[in-house]
Amino acid sequence: MSANFVESTHGKRQLNHLGYRYCFKRKNINSEYWVCVQCKATATTYPDLSVVVRYNHTHLPDESCAKILKIRKSLKRKSTADAGPIDCIVEEAYNNANRQSSSTDLLTNLPPLHIMKNILQRHRRKNRPPVPHTIEQLPFPLPDTYCKTTNGESFLLYDGLLAGTRSLIFSSYGDIVHLSQQEHWYGDGTFYTCPSIFTRSINGTSSENCDGGSSLFF
Ligand SMILES: [Zn+2]
Repeated sequence: MSANFVESTHGKRQLNHLGYRYCFKRKNINSEYWVCVQCKATATTYPDLSVVVRYNHTHLPDESCAKILKIRKSLKRKSTADAGPIDCIVEEAYNNANRQSSSTDLLTNLPPLHIMKNILQRHRRKNRPPVPHTIEQLPFPLPDTYCKTTNGESFLLYDGLLAGTRSLIFSSYGDIVHLSQQEHWYGDGTFYTCPSIFTRSINGTSSENCDGGSSLFF
């Protein structure tokens, strides 16, 4: 079986082989040398991804370990990339783990729900700018993460003064091209659901999209 690498909870590259995890020890000229995370068994990996294991492990393999690392890595990524509440992100991942797993191994080896929520809240605070409480606290220019769609496409069209007030206009290039080809645009504004540091949120769409379709600019 060829070498499979995973990322530890601390972001370190590890070897995952036949249910055993190994820490990186050193790089040789044409190979890498690894030591089991639980015992003194060692492994050598080669550029063709072949693995040679030396010494017997003093414990049983744990197949769920790599899956758990994968779930934790995906949760960390989601906690900064998604804007949704951490509670929902964690609960959804735990429900999926529960459904996928034929045994209860996955859930029993994951940290308890409330601890995972705390870990991810801390991770989000460290990696995302704080929520501004006044318009003056809103950074200029806006951090890149707030100027792109989930596909990485540019989303912020304008950030500047309109009638003397800082105003932001968001839309993707594709939506603007679509709007440019439409004869009629529809717009609506609300004072109630916009974030509290702003006065008003306005969104708009084309005649084609106005019946239950999504907004094309904000
Ligand atoms: Zn071992």
